[in-house]
Amino acid sequence: MEINKLVRPNILKLKPYSSARSEFTGEGSVFLDANESPFENDYNRYPDPLQNKVKEKISGIKNISKESIFLGNGSDEAIDLLFRIFCNPGKDNVIAIAPTYGMYEVCADINDVEYRSVNLDANFDIDTEAVLARTDGNSKIIFLCSPNNPTGNLLNREKMLTLINEFKGIVVVDEAYIDFAPQESFINLIPKYSNLVVLQTFSKAWGQASVRLGMAYSSPEIISYFNKVKYPYNINILTQRHILKVLEDKGLVESQTKEILAQKEYLIEQLNKMAKVKKIFPSSANFVLVRIDDADNVYQKLVDKGIIVRNRSKITLCDGCLRITVGREDENKNLINALSQI
Ligand SMILES: *Cc1c(COP(=O)(O)O)cnc(C)c1O
Repeated sequence: MEINKLVRPNILKLKPYSSARSEFTGEGSVFLDANESPFENDYNRYPDPLQNKVKEKISGIKNISKESIFLGNGSDEAIDLLFRIFCNPGKDNVIAIAPTYGMYEVCADINDVEYRSVNLDANFDIDTEAVLARTDGNSKIIFLCSPNNPTGNLLNREKMLTLINEFKGIVVVDEAYIDFAPQESFINLIPKYSNLVVLQTFSKAWGQASVRLGMAYSSPEIISYFNKVKYPYNINILTQRHILKVLEDKGLVESQTKEILAQKEYLIEQLNKMAKVKKIFPSSANFVLVRIDDADNVYQKLVDKGIIVRNRSKITLCDGCLRITVGREDENKNLINALSQI
């Protein structure tokens, strides 16, 4: 696929900001090029605009080249950049499933791009024909989220591949919850599909939501457009240093993920025993979507007890549903105890 034909003309011809540190080659020892303070205090120099050390580390863990990685202020930055790279405001459109993560539509609205949503089927899976039927010559991106938020299920892999194969635009696979799922990441398919962008984040299984660091993985060509459009120093040095330390302890994240999955089983088992729980939807994430009698009332009663879950009862196909994040053992027991008293 000719990706440059999908890129907005103004971005294609954009001459990106050139930072002082990227304008010379060789080894510097005296830096008088960036109007920084010369007094060393750990923070006086501008950070690496391409975060090479962090990307090297991620590259090893994910088995993908550095040139295929973009780092952003959460995966939310990557979502916004996708609109700014590919979608002409007031003209182009994107397609997404419903229900799904809310940021795709918010970013579409901010960028004045038409957002077309296609309801999932009764199993919360993709209706590929309906999705393709909504595309036209101005459709630039299809957003797929797997495991999907707020439903929790993995989308059917074959159906996702059908869309990647058939759609003449970019297919984004948001894998924010992939670490909890018994399925291989789509990252491994990037060399095969030039229109595939995979999003991941440090905000969920990695336990770093407050740090704001997310990844987009794609072909070096697409990543070069991300680099062209992003703020020159979008990831600060505190984040870069911190995440290098986090990446040293992959074992901790793996054991925490196991514990969360075990706690999810406990939650499901306990919820299943409750008469007011009508349905627990299959989840491959760190949360469960639950249909419950009188959801709004249950939600408020939980809030009154200081227990906050997400009320999704007004969302497409989620009437009467609460989304419950799996917490620590004591938190989950607390929730079950409170629910049994309502
Ligand atoms: C939580 C979540 C994200 C994470 O966004 P960050 O900006 O990286 O914190 C992305 N996509 C989905 C579907 C999510 O649920």
